Amino acid sequence: MTLDEASKTPYTIDTEPFYLDTDNEIRMFEAAAAARLPVMLKGPTGCGKTRFIEHMAFRLKRPLITVACHEDLFASDLIGRYLLKDDETVWVDGPLTRAVRMGAICYLDEVVEARKDTTVVVHPLTDNRRTLSIDKKGEVIQAHPDFLMVISYNPGYQSVLKDLKQSTRQRFVSLSFDYPEPEDESRIVAIEGKVDHDTAARLVGLAGKIRHIREHGLTEGASTRLLIYAASLIRQGIPFKGACTAALCQPLTDDDRLQETLNDLIDDLI
Ligand code: ADP
Repeated sequence: MTLDEASKTPYTIDTEPFYLDTDNEIRMFEAAAAARLPVMLKGPTGCGKTRFIEHMAFRLKRPLITVACHEDLFASDLIGRYLLKDDETVWVDGPLTRAVRMGAICYLDEVVEARKDTTVVVHPLTDNRRTLSIDKKGEVIQAHPDFLMVISYNPGYQSVLKDLKQSTRQRFVSLSFDYPEPEDESRIVAIEGKVDHDTAARLVGLAGKIRHIREHGLTEGASTRLLIYAASLIRQGIPFKGACTAALCQPLTDDDRLQETLNDLIDDLI
């Protein structure tokens, strides 16, 4: 076994995930990682945050441990717990503890969804201390030098009740993500959806129009992810209109009038 193979973990990303740099975010992230600064990825759903972090984990050759946060996620789910095994209680590290020990990137996706007690854990890890306290074991761990905390956050979803507190947000370098410029987005949709450039550009043009009517009732515009879905359906032989209805219009809203408006936009394109 080579040294490289020995250092592999189940969280290692072996092949380069395709990622198109749109605003120098790769360089910025590299600088933050080198300075051991925690990073916040801000932006709407489906605009490339997860793909970006996978790409960066590959680039920096660091394992990536992702936790999808939800309203029932407690700090203890991140830290770990005692489990009963063959009549014995054994301690099992949670994903955050594992990342802190091995020097991984820990990606807390949609962090505001998690229970408030998670901030107690996040704070000492994201300032000079870089420590994780495991109360149940009476242990305080110093984070591995390569450990990096990354959180994602969608400002569009947030209500006053579910906003990130200043004391938390001011611990992170923040990278803003948005839908890429049309030329870049067409390239991404063509590559990821495996369609020709013209088809990709038509889908991106439609998305631009849909994003424009956002103010009139849609909570969020059509994401790059949905454009790739539409492209994938077209590639499977579904006609343009049907693919757009299924992948772009229907997922966005249940409102009949808005559906009609969206359908009109597609008809204009055909
Ligand atoms: P998010 O985490 O922001 O919800 P994702 O990272 O899952 O979104 O993005 C959805 C999809 O869009 C990805 O799987 C990828 O195919 C594509 N994508 C978006 N932006 C880019 C980009 N800049 N380069 C490559 N692919 C991208």
